[in-house]
Amino acid sequence: MCQTKAAIVLLLLFLAGCKPAPEPVIQISGATMGTTYHVTLVNPGELRADELKRDLDFQLEHFNTIASTYIGDSELNRLNRAAVGEWHDISPVLYAILNMAIEVSWLSGGAFDITVAPLVNLWGFGPQKHEYVPDQAGIDAAMALVGYQKLEMDMLEPKMLKREAVQLDLSAIAKGYGVDATAVWLASLGVTDYLVEIGGEMRMAGKSPRGDSWRIGVENPDPDAEGVLPVAVTDMGVATSGDYRNYFEKDGKRYSHTIDPRTGRPITHRLASVTVLDPSCAYADALATAFSVMGGDAALAMANSQDIPIYLIEKTDEGFVSRYSDAFAPYLEEQ
Ligand code: ADP
Ligand code: MG
Repeated sequence: MCQTKAAIVLLLLFLAGCKPAPEPVIQISGATMGTTYHVTLVNPGELRADELKRDLDFQLEHFNTIASTYIGDSELNRLNRAAVGEWHDISPVLYAILNMAIEVSWLSGGAFDITVAPLVNLWGFGPQKHEYVPDQAGIDAAMALVGYQKLEMDMLEPKMLKREAVQLDLSAIAKGYGVDATAVWLASLGVTDYLVEIGGEMRMAGKSPRGDSWRIGVENPDPDAEGVLPVAVTDMGVATSGDYRNYFEKDGKRYSHTIDPRTGRPITHRLASVTVLDPSCAYADALATAFSVMGGDAALAMANSQDIPIYLIEKTDEGFVSRYSDAFAPYLEEQ
């Protein structure tokens, strides 16, 4: 199983500047959701780094006990074991994530689907890792349990019903949701200028320590390519899906952790990475996974018809090639 941390697609360019930061800044970092987080606050006022980190760690840990598939008695895993055909009360956080996930499933024609858990487990990308290719009978059996339409949500109250024995996996949206929740918490503390990043998904508001817009760099997955593409964004969430971050190789073939719920198999097309901008990082995170599943042409068609800023890097016989949606163009033109 390969998880190259070095290949994190988004770099924080403001850190690379050689001038000292003119504004007072707090930076805190830690571990969560099997990855790392980094938070930068500009002009933090009376806020103290040690207290912020303590409170943030506590809240992220609590969040994990709700949404993680890796914690045996997380709320999500309890829901995965809960009875079929009955209404279950769920926490407001889980309710919010499930509603958003179902919306992205619907929007993407099922390319994104949190009921993909049986397939994720079958292919060895769940809590129990393995590196072998399952047989077709196993894939068919797992696929029979997949489908976001098998979930019923109450319109007003935080409760849900499983019409069939579905298993949920929130890995493709939880990091983005954690970023949003952290951003909203910081805003509630009166912070107006910040950057929050969990495992490469991020959201920024206001100004960077240099006093101008936050800048991110979209890194080319081609090791021979030079430099990164700088993009100025603020008051925005940014998420990236890439096929080179988590996969296994068998008989010369690469098997990605992103599964196409419609075939039951890891994605095989030539999309190396997709970066999505949306004010909600959870939404951007889920959409990035959806676009990965859809592949370059379908992703661009959907992004253009829905006015979503996306930036794609694809492998071709001539090397890596980038394309972007119309809504992404203004971010490039601002350079
Ligand atoms: P990426 O950044 O590559 O999209 P994420 O961490 O956001 O990666 O999501 C990938 C994880 O989501 C997988 O490890 C798996 O647990 C789950 N997953 C895989 N395929 C899908 C899918 N089609 N829809 C929703 N979740 C998926
Ligand atoms: Mg994702």
